[in-house]
Amino acid sequence: MTHYDVAVIGSGPGGYVAAIRCAQLGMKTAIIEKYNTLGGTCLNVGCIPSKALLDSSHHYEDAMHHFEEHGIEIPGDIKINFQKMIERKASVVEQTTKGIDFLMTKNKIDVFTGIGSFKDATHIDITSEGKTQTIEAKNTIIATGSKPSTLPFIKIDKERIITSTEALSLSEIPKHLIVIGGGVIGLELGQVYRRLGAEVSVVEYMDRIIPTMDGAQSKELLKVMKKQGVKFYLSHKVSAVERKGNEVTVTASDKKGDTVSFTGDYCLVSVGRRAYTDGLKLENAGVSANERGQVNVNDHLQTNVANVYAIGDVIRGAMLAHKAEEEGVLVAEILAGQKPHINYNLIPGVVYTWPEVASVGKTEEQLKDEGVSYKVGQFPMRALGRSRASGDTDGFVKILADAKTDEILGVHMVGARVADLITEAVTAMEFRASAEDLARMSHAHPTYAEAVKEAALDATDKRALHF
Ligand code: FAD
Ligand code: NAD
Repeated sequence: MTHYDVAVIGSGPGGYVAAIRCAQLGMKTAIIEKYNTLGGTCLNVGCIPSKALLDSSHHYEDAMHHFEEHGIEIPGDIKINFQKMIERKASVVEQTTKGIDFLMTKNKIDVFTGIGSFKDATHIDITSEGKTQTIEAKNTIIATGSKPSTLPFIKIDKERIITSTEALSLSEIPKHLIVIGGGVIGLELGQVYRRLGAEVSVVEYMDRIIPTMDGAQSKELLKVMKKQGVKFYLSHKVSAVERKGNEVTVTASDKKGDTVSFTGDYCLVSVGRRAYTDGLKLENAGVSANERGQVNVNDHLQTNVANVYAIGDVIRGAMLAHKAEEEGVLVAEILAGQKPHINYNLIPGVVYTWPEVASVGKTEEQLKDEGVSYKVGQFPMRALGRSRASGDTDGFVKILADAKTDEILGVHMVGARVADLITEAVTAMEFRASAEDLARMSHAHPTYAEAVKEAALDATDKRALHF
């Protein structure tokens, strides 16, 4: 039997990063993945393929609706080769997952393909095609991620009633895509298919989309996506989803309690994801999970069994790739005797629609609930020369700062490339910068980043220069 210092179960961004950091720190490391490709949800059916389709559909949208205003004329009709678009996405995924194979080899990490399960707290069975082998591990990191969740009355048939996984590999563009859930997945994939010509109806339970983000972002994105032709049905409680042949009917009750129904050819169920521990046999190691199926961990991400840790989507907190990665590094460094720390308040959240939406720190709603006195600085993208040059004038940067100390407490953005801009806010907040600190830093002109400086000037003492 082979002995390892660490066995990592699951090869998503949590697991593979944990394995790399363990190997860098001199530990003999194994990674176990049940699928034939490494990279988990994020690389195979999540972050990377969804961004590939967002980028492809964005090019089509530009060609159809925006090239002309730039003086670019395309003779003849612009056509979509949807199969090619999906093939390109698959090849982006392939290149990315192959990159993880390379990183495993480079770091001398042993890769096992098969379902990992606990035999006991120090032995992991790996089962593939009916055969089981066992490895011994001094420490184990559970990084088994999450799966799409659904509503109790919905049967996902993976053909017409689908999750994000199927929506990333359809064989045709839907005529009418009904999206249940106006969160990150619903809006990103809803926007992809709207751009490609589908009618898209988003049915959301809450009274706003992206409900956990700052209210100003929800409002702005709703306004822009409505302009793009997406239809929204907020405060609608879905009660049934039925398929007849190639038709799907979604029934819901609206705010007044009236029953409404929507009929389309596809229904995307995007109401969140659930922690995934099926087949792990946690009970054999004595590892406990909560009522939501999340593995219980302490501040060191250690489970109730001292040598077993858990990271990423399978534990509490935001279900984000970069959160999982930070946790992977944290556990590796703890195992190496270091004292790492994660500032969970500074894990940014991004929605990759266009315009993009990005956030870090507290929302205005949270500050109100917590009774913190704060001031707001806001600057519209349309006032930037850079935005006018590219034609991306929707959105804003909003900075929330402590009313007394001026420390930045939250930054919320909607606009072109804000997924990249948010890092400036994370850096500033990591160093506990004040709004005035940001306001006094030189920002290259013309850039979208100037909106950050201007919002900071506005937060400092209402002295934005260009608005
Ligand atoms: P996962 O990536 O889910 O990986 C877990 C791995 O464990 C899987 O490969 C699974 O097969 C394997 N596994 C499970 N059980 C076993 C077992 N018993 N034995 C062996 N292997 C096992 N996040 C972002 O930050 N940015 C984005 O843009 C983004 N876009 C997304 C788009 C979509 C459509 C979806 C669905 C998700 C997106 N996410 C995004 C979320 C992101 O994918 C997850 O937060 C991230 O993948 C979590 O990483 P993880 O390592 O915890 O788990
Ligand atoms: P989500 O939590 O972002 O959104 C779910 C939405 O469904 C919410 O708006 C919620 O109010 C709504 N909802 C819940 N029950 C409903 C019901 N019965 N009827 C109608 N609406 C209902 O979840 P998601 O979009 O499925 O994404 C899952 C996870 O994947 C998220 O936690 C997210 O962090 C991650 N993800 C991240 C990215 C990114 O970082 N860009 C992209 C995709 C997914």
